[in-house]
Amino acid sequence: MEMRICNFPECGRKYRSTGLCDSHLRQKKQGRELTPLRARNVKPRESKSCRGCGDEKALTEFREHRHGYRIGLCRDCEAESYRKTGDRSTNKRER
Ligand SMILES: [Zn+2]
Ligand SMILES: [Zn+2]
Repeated sequence: MEMRICNFPECGRKYRSTGLCDSHLRQKKQGRELTPLRARNVKPRESKSCRGCGDEKALTEFREHRHGYRIGLCRDCEAESYRKTGDRSTNKRER
């Protein structure tokens, strides 16, 4: 299926048949100047600060655990903490 995107620069919304997305079409119908839309549908929080390094990171940087719960450590810090604690099951003893 072909993806059709609103003609308004940097809008990026899909439209049906008119070349403009619903919101921009409405602006046009109202005779208003077309203005960039504030993305209201975007989730308010797409990032959070890591408990470990304190950096604000995208949610994708946090591994999702069961029940949709995300731990407070980013992937980097999580890997770091595993390294520090040491995973006994995979820790090979050198002989
Ligand atoms: Zn648009
Ligand atoms: Zn971190």
